[in-house]
Amino acid sequence: MDPTSVAGYRVVERIGRGGMGVVYRARDSVLDRDVALKYVDSAGAPEGRVERLIREAKIASSLQHPGIVTIYGFVSEGPCIAMEYIRGDTLSAHLLPDGMALDKAVRLGLQIAEALHYAHQSGVIHADLKPSNIMIDLTGRAKVLDFGLAHWRLFEELQTISDSGEHLQQLAGTIPYMSPEVVMGRSLDCRSDIFSLGCVLFEMLTGLRPFSADNPAATLNSLLNRMPRGIEILHQKVPAALADLVLRMLEKDPSRRLPTLGDAIVVLRDFCDGVDVLRLRTKHRFLSVSAIRRGLPLLFTVFLGLLMYLISEPGVSGRQLRVFLAQPEYYREGEDTPMDTVIWSSVVNGLHLLGSIQPILYHRLPVEGSDPAQLAKLAGSDEWINVRFQPENPLGNVQLQRIRTGDGALLKQVQFSVPKEYLSQSSQAVLSQVLAIYRGMESRQSIGYSALSYSDYSRFVEIYSSLNQGVGDRQVLFNKLDKLISEAPGFFAAEVMAVDLAHDLFSDTEKMFYLERAKNIIGRLQFAHPNPVVVLQRKALLSIDSGDIEIAEEIVNKISSMSPGDPEVLLLRSRIAEHRGDISKALSLVTKASSMASISWSAWYRAAALAIRNGDVDTARDKVDKILNLTPGNTLALGQRGLVELLYGDVDRAVSIYKRLLEIKRHRSYLVNLGLALMLKENYQEARVNFTYALEIQPGHRVAILNLADAEMALGNREIALDLYRSVLNQKKPRGDEGAYGKMVRAQCLAHLEEYGMAIELTLEALSSSPEDPEIAYQAALVYSLVGEYESAIVNARAALRRGMDRRWFNLPVFRNTPVPDSLPENNENH
Ligand code: ATP
Ligand code: MG
Repeated sequence: MDPTSVAGYRVVERIGRGGMGVVYRARDSVLDRDVALKYVDSAGAPEGRVERLIREAKIASSLQHPGIVTIYGFVSEGPCIAMEYIRGDTLSAHLLPDGMALDKAVRLGLQIAEALHYAHQSGVIHADLKPSNIMIDLTGRAKVLDFGLAHWRLFEELQTISDSGEHLQQLAGTIPYMSPEVVMGRSLDCRSDIFSLGCVLFEMLTGLRPFSADNPAATLNSLLNRMPRGIEILHQKVPAALADLVLRMLEKDPSRRLPTLGDAIVVLRDFCDGVDVLRLRTKHRFLSVSAIRRGLPLLFTVFLGLLMYLISEPGVSGRQLRVFLAQPEYYREGEDTPMDTVIWSSVVNGLHLLGSIQPILYHRLPVEGSDPAQLAKLAGSDEWINVRFQPENPLGNVQLQRIRTGDGALLKQVQFSVPKEYLSQSSQAVLSQVLAIYRGMESRQSIGYSALSYSDYSRFVEIYSSLNQGVGDRQVLFNKLDKLISEAPGFFAAEVMAVDLAHDLFSDTEKMFYLERAKNIIGRLQFAHPNPVVVLQRKALLSIDSGDIEIAEEIVNKISSMSPGDPEVLLLRSRIAEHRGDISKALSLVTKASSMASISWSAWYRAAALAIRNGDVDTARDKVDKILNLTPGNTLALGQRGLVELLYGDVDRAVSIYKRLLEIKRHRSYLVNLGLALMLKENYQEARVNFTYALEIQPGHRVAILNLADAEMALGNREIALDLYRSVLNQKKPRGDEGAYGKMVRAQCLAHLEEYGMAIELTLEALSSSPEDPEIAYQAALVYSLVGEYESAIVNARAALRRGMDRRWFNLPVFRNTPVPDSLPENNENH
């Protein structure tokens, strides 16, 4: 029976019934206001329930926030909780089957997120967030009910689920919004609420509960094991950044989930301000994966921001400002103090915060002893930042200079002191000064940045320096970096570096893990970052890697509209063309880019690499010489020069170039290429030595083993060779699609081992996936001639020659027993 009055409150009406009991509207005649009384069914309640309710109510009543219902007190006669009465409806009543209007959903979502975030920061979790626990008052404001009240109840009731279906029924309204950790009875933290909010947002936006199924048990199963249903609908209905945010909130594993609501608030606020709603209407799909990337792996071109600020310089307007930052060595003056670590990485982070700047950082510089002004030029930057630090006690003096790359003009400079003892003040000071010298540019400096610790900075710089010097195992460095970013969220510079390193490692190792990680980090960067271009550019690269060319094109168009005239767009389009096998188009795009981006040697480098693939020897030599003129001793360029000579030019020169490079650094690829040059010179003995050295540096390298086997074969050591071919095949196959080159390595080994059927099968697969690639055609010719199918061998050999492969490669001993090279016409036939 309903009570009529309790503790001076006059009960007016019953307004609802939930899992815990009944809720009434009552009148407080003294204060002349309405209150809501939430009763607790104490009949049959487990022991201690009321006491715990009091404890929870106490905590909840400490919360004071416009988005949270105020608790007035606990009435022991009820027992019930007296709280603010909200006129209005629950969120459930506002939900629509096809989702509510985007602006309303985002506005309410933001209010709820703010309320929860406030509570989390006060150490309180809700634990039962769902639409019936959110009221929308008559002014349209969201207010969250029942804070902390459910925390313990859920545990109890879930534990008894097995003995009676009753509890499940009681919990039916709660289950679709439960986090997996609640379901599994694990300990909870604020991330559990983030999951539930993800469910609520999903439902607001699409009208669908992401994990709801026919009955509570099926729903529990779906919460634990299934992808949210209706992801496509989410993507159709809402902008990519918002969809990604919701999906990150719905990660089942709390450690992969959005860690705090601070980041969500930033994104939602943007949408509320209407800033990004139109801009971000790109379809985002998760990338499926395959394919190897070959290309210039070593550059960290950090790509940022949307153009809000047009610089007046001709040729630069309409795109992001490219700002080069030299490494610490170049400004380390005086004693070697850890402060410069902090200063340098604070500048890097500051640049990342500036929406219209594209910071350019290199790791592993190929040029020794250049000064930063020259490096800034080589990077094709518009400006560079000179950082000077003079440690003095107790303050250190920092000077930041903005310098125009073209003529060295000093555009702006600031000088300030930092308290060396107080790391966070110092890093904040540096950050704000970076923002100051770029005043007027879009920035957002709120996000978590100040929470970084001194050790975060040192770890970052340690990893960066190792990469820079090319020392240390890059996979180990990646693991360190990965750990750093999970422990120090909001460290943009580290996250961007992690994506790039993961991408490089994927190219090197073909391990899917790295591609997955790269995508994962990008997912987080997408909303944590003030500007999506930094992410878009990387997404485009990863899509190309994955063979998702349509998605890549969509993203590139987007970037082009955000940062018109950016040479990066041409470079990406060139990669797309390259992926399609249209090497000449790729080459012309990259050439165009290199003419735009002042004198970036990296664009020339790519042009040279493409020209080499295209068999365009003159262009290749020309580009490489240009780089070498600018940066004498540039080892990357010298390596390319060696490749030109090895593939098409003067083999003796190739030998001497690689010998010279080996004096500078014993790199696996130099040894392998030197070995190949020696094979061409029929010096199999020395070739074998070099392949062996290469394998000492990188044991198990498949191509090096294959080459060594070929050398042994040429030397007449058939059994040794066959063992080596076998060992390639016995290696664990990389997960996923290994790509055409990987397939051809195995096909060659199989052919040598007379496993003809499988060899041909792989060859056909490689040929169909890379129909235009001369190298694949060449290797196909090789396999066919080993198999004894001379006609197919000739067809492929011709194709390889037509696409630029040099005749010399058909003189290798593997072709000894085949008529392939001799029967080829001297000139290219028309096709
Ligand atoms: P649970 O017990 O799991 O929280 P529930 O949220 O459905 O389930 P109650 O919290 O008991 O149930 O609330 C029942 C209903 O009472 C709510 O859905 C809401 O309509 C109404 N209500 C609760 N608190 C208030 C309040 N402070 N002001 C106005 N109406 C309220
Ligand atoms: Mg409730």
